[in-house]
Amino acid sequence: MSAPLRKQDLLERVLFGVYASGWQALVVHRLQPFGLRLFRREDTDFISLRIYIWNCTPGGRNRPADEFRVQITGAVPKAERGEITLLLGWHEGYGVFVGFDMRRHDGQASASPSIQVKEAALLNAHNRAFSAYDRANGEIAISFRPEFLVEYCTNLATLHGFTADDEALGMLNTIDTLNERDVATRIANFERREVIVTIKRKYREYDFRRRVVNAYAATCAFCGIQLRLVEAAHIIPLAADASTDETRNGVALCALHHCAYDQNLISFDETYRIEVSATAIMRLSESGLVGGLAAFRKGIKSAIVLPADKRDYPARQYIAKSREIRQWQT
Ligand SMILES: [Zn+2]
Repeated sequence: MSAPLRKQDLLERVLFGVYASGWQALVVHRLQPFGLRLFRREDTDFISLRIYIWNCTPGGRNRPADEFRVQITGAVPKAERGEITLLLGWHEGYGVFVGFDMRRHDGQASASPSIQVKEAALLNAHNRAFSAYDRANGEIAISFRPEFLVEYCTNLATLHGFTADDEALGMLNTIDTLNERDVATRIANFERREVIVTIKRKYREYDFRRRVVNAYAATCAFCGIQLRLVEAAHIIPLAADASTDETRNGVALCALHHCAYDQNLISFDETYRIEVSATAIMRLSESGLVGGLAAFRKGIKSAIVLPADKRDYPARQYIAKSREIRQWQT
């Protein structure tokens, strides 16, 4: 049983969740309730968050053994206009958040300081990425892995409104194996349908990213850099009909080389040899845009860094197909 985390460590877990969601965070208030602004690159829109967070601890005396709780101590949760207010628990062992419905706990005083959650809900989120659980009083608790933090924030009201909808709850609890076609045919409510599809899409995106980045030990296949600057790139682009989320259709690339790869400045052939496009360089040269070319060339290996496991190597047929679709020119 790990010791409860300090508040600043809980903030770190939140910040990691934002990063894993593909967003960035500006911390505007470093004490509970934490104040965060979430944004994406140069987007002018941002999300204002107000976060109350506690550790998830065992249920305590006279409570069932399969129960955890969040003890609301040291602050009375208060929603603020114009901000999204989160009431979260974090379970360090399972590596998941649990979110409660703020509408039911706004102003909850320390006379009733605990909110219970079943261990099964945390475990389901740990194993299957996401979980929605009826706390038996009609409140839906949502438990999720860090990468869903932003999707949770932006769909808060709909998710906590899944009350008495076993079909929809069942889908959120089996998001890893859910067939998207079933959502359209079995869920009548438009908003719920949209949110289930959003969560499923996020699951797929992150699952691909996690597999590919892990296969390459978080290392750029072109230059060898790690430094948490590495992304998963599709070899056959996502927009192509022939694209797939198999690990063998992915390659881990740093932000610079991902961009260069998608712009056909750089590629690799079926023997994994890296090439810089002479055609692209000639065009850039005509526009006077070849500054730093020597350093760029120097930073690239002669062949891509391959995954430790052979089964994760880029598939030769995907490389060939990709070069055809991307209209690669040497
Ligand atoms: Zn790189």
